[in-house]
Amino acid sequence: MPRFRQILDTMTAYKPGKAVAAPDGRSYKLSSNESPYDPLPSVVEAIAEGARQVNRYPDPGAVELTEAIAERFGVPAEHIALGAGSVTVAQQLFETVGEPGAEVVYAWRSFEAYPLLADLAGVKSVTVPLAGEDHDLDAMAEAINDRTRMVLVCNPNNPTSTAIRRAELEAFLDRVPEDVLVVLDEAYREYVRDEDVPDGLTLYGDRPNVAVLRTFSKAYGLAGLRVGYVIAPEPVATAVRKTIVPFAVNHLAQIAAIASLKAEDELQERVERVVKERTRVREALIAQGWTVPPTEANFVWLRLGERTPDFAAACAVEGVAVRPFGVEGARVSIGSPEANDAFLAAAGRFRR
Ligand code: PMP
Repeated sequence: MPRFRQILDTMTAYKPGKAVAAPDGRSYKLSSNESPYDPLPSVVEAIAEGARQVNRYPDPGAVELTEAIAERFGVPAEHIALGAGSVTVAQQLFETVGEPGAEVVYAWRSFEAYPLLADLAGVKSVTVPLAGEDHDLDAMAEAINDRTRMVLVCNPNNPTSTAIRRAELEAFLDRVPEDVLVVLDEAYREYVRDEDVPDGLTLYGDRPNVAVLRTFSKAYGLAGLRVGYVIAPEPVATAVRKTIVPFAVNHLAQIAAIASLKAEDELQERVERVVKERTRVREALIAQGWTVPPTEANFVWLRLGERTPDFAAACAVEGVAVRPFGVEGARVSIGSPEANDAFLAAAGRFRR
C-alpha cells in the first residue's frame, strides 16, 4: 500500500447533504442551502450555447467573468480571483498562507469545510467556541498569536444563521495584525436584510489584509456548476490566482455566471421570496414553541442537542432532508413554500 500523509488517518471526507424520500415518494431537500428554483431560462440557454465550445479549454483567466464581477461590484478586476466554487477559493486561501507551523483561527461551529481545508493545507486549526449562536470576536482576537496566518469569519455563520454587525466587526478587524489575512466568508450575503450587518466590500478597501469570499452557488442558483470568487486587495488576489489549478473554472460555469449577472433583477426577486419564506418559517417555528436564532441566511438553525438525530429521522420519514450536526442541532434550508410547509408539519409533529 502507498504511504499516505499521516493527517489522512484522522480525517474523514466531507459529507454533503443528501435527499431523502417519504414512503409516498415526496422528497424535499433542505440540507444544502441551495436555491429552490430551477435555473433561469436565460441561463440555461447560455449554457446550451456554451456547450458547443466544450472541445476547447476554458479561458484560464476567466477574463469576461472577472470583468463582469468587477463592474457589478465597482471594484478593479485585479482585486478578483475566481475558483471552482467558493470552497475551492477558500482552499486556495489556505494554500496562500499554509506553511509548517502556521495557525488558522475560526469559530466553531462554523462551515464544516474549514477544518478539512486546514488539515489538507497542513496548518493547525485554532477553533474558538461560539458564544451562544454568535461569533465570539473578543475570544477570536485573543486567539491570534505570532503563528496565526489567517482568520476566517463566516458572516452570516453557517450553520447557526446569525450575523455580525458593523461596529463589532470593525473593532475586531482593528485588533488583527496586518500580516494576518482575515477572510470574510459571505456565501449568504445576498440574504442579509439587517442593515447593521456590513457588506464586506465596504470593509476590505481600506485594509490590506481583508478578503471577501462570495459564491454563485446560493442566491445565484449555480451550485451545480461550481464557481466562486474572492474580492481582496490586489496582492491578496494575486496570491490566490497563483494557487489555482489550471482551468479549474470550467467554460459552462463561466458562461452561466456571466448570464446570471445579466439576470440580477430576476434573481433578486427570487432572493426576496426566500427572505419572505424565511420570516414565515421562523415565525411558524417560534409559534410551535421552538427557539430559533435570528437568521440572515437562507436557512434556520435549531439547537436540538441530543434530540438532533431523532429530529432529522422524523423529518426524513416525511421526505424532508435537513442537515443534522451530531448532537448539536439541525440546519434547515429555506425551500419552496411547499417544501417549507412539509418541514413545518414535520417539526410540529415532532414537537408534540
Ligand atoms: N462558505 C460557506 C459559509 C458555505 O456555507 C458554503 C457552502 N455550503 C461555501 C462557502 C461553499 O460554497 P460553494 O463552494 O458552493 O461556493
